[in-house]
Amino acid sequence: MDLYIGNDLKDVENAVSEFCEKEFDQEYLQRLEDEHKYPIGLYEKIGELGFIGVGFSEDIGGSGYGALGHVVAVTEMCRRLPGMGMALSLGYIPGFVVDIYGNREQREKYVRPMIEGKYISAISVTEPDSGSDIGSLQTRMEDKKDHFIVNGSKVFTTNAGYADFYTLLAKDESGLTTVLFDKDLIGKNGPKRFEINDLGRKMGINTTTSGELVFTDFAIPKDYVIGQRGKGMKTVLNGFELGRIVIAAQAFGSMLYGYEKAVDYAKKRKQFGRPIIKFQSIEHELVDMYVEIEQCRNLLYKAAWLYDRKDPESKKFSSMVKLAIPECAIRILNQSVDILGGYGYMRDQGLEGALRDIRITSIYEGTSKIQKIAVAKLLY
Ligand SMILES: Cc1cc2nc3c(=O)[nH]c(=O)nc-3n(C[C@H](O)[C@H](O)[C@H](O)COP(=O)(O)OP(=O)(O)OC[C@H]3O[C@@H](n4cnc5c(N)ncnc54)[C@H](O)[C@@H]3O)c2cc1C
Repeated sequence: MDLYIGNDLKDVENAVSEFCEKEFDQEYLQRLEDEHKYPIGLYEKIGELGFIGVGFSEDIGGSGYGALGHVVAVTEMCRRLPGMGMALSLGYIPGFVVDIYGNREQREKYVRPMIEGKYISAISVTEPDSGSDIGSLQTRMEDKKDHFIVNGSKVFTTNAGYADFYTLLAKDESGLTTVLFDKDLIGKNGPKRFEINDLGRKMGINTTTSGELVFTDFAIPKDYVIGQRGKGMKTVLNGFELGRIVIAAQAFGSMLYGYEKAVDYAKKRKQFGRPIIKFQSIEHELVDMYVEIEQCRNLLYKAAWLYDRKDPESKKFSSMVKLAIPECAIRILNQSVDILGGYGYMRDQGLEGALRDIRITSIYEGTSKIQKIAVAKLLY
């Protein structure tokens, strides 16, 4: 019996698992990584099958399982192949802000096709001189009656280049404001007004891009504002509240991947005449990993459960899981590499890639240190 997950969500979990078993392929992932290409075909498929929509509400084409639904789907995808599950979920995690704060028209235009796997989303908050300190950002939006004129630059925007729509946080007369822009608007503005520079290869998740966006007198109509003008910081941070839980699910699924591989290997690999799992130090290490996994599972499900109930504790738990679970995943994947010995270090085993991929979960949407600050503020 599962404390948080009912039979219907278990069915979803099984369906996602079956799909990944059939469709996720490590060699294919590594080829995409080498070519620096996003798994667009698989993204479309998980949209068609309703796996993107599990956590979104029914009024916009989702299944209505909320944060818990997102957690189940993302955990299972990352459990099967971390780099693939992370890349696919990164196609829609940036769209949470538009889903939460967008009006009916905006949600229909952008969130519905995203849930169907037709649109990829992006969010541009970070700037060259403004990372953790979001409030210090410099990108400006000048108010021109029916539109804004945007000037400035953003860095590290995931999916830059192939995203169909972007959420941008910038400064206007009223404070920080979130606005949308899409491919059509980029086309209308022309090439001199908007530039994307791919930041190139990185430690992990190399099927996704991380881009620098440069705005030069880029026009955005005022009806593209998301939420309230001047309340952009709140808009983004509330989107991150769900985002952090789902990023923790990326990390959680990936630690399961590492642990399961390590157990399987330890049972098969023989040294000194017996399977290495029979050495107490290996067996006990696996037990420690298992206990940590169950602690993370409970914390993660609880965070999602609180979020879905709009519980005042949710913010704290969202930061807590974003702090604890990525750190634990990095540790467990590292231990898994150890248990596979020299083979763990080789690319074809998948673990070194998973360890590199998962490293980002303790950085994006707020570093571990920033989560600790957020939890402390809510506690004391
Ligand atoms: C692969 C990748 C994808 C990303 N995707 C996106 C995206 O889609 N959209 C987007 O907007 N951004 C994205 N980011 C940016 C990411 O969110 C930031 O890198 C992150 O928030 C940290 O900001 P920073 O890199 O400027 O580091 P800094 O804020 O400069 O931090 C540097 C170090 O100082 C520490 N630090 C900072 N402030 C404090 C403090 N008050 N107390 C103690 N320690 C502190 C940090 O924890 C860190 O260790 C992405 C980054 C990467 C690498």
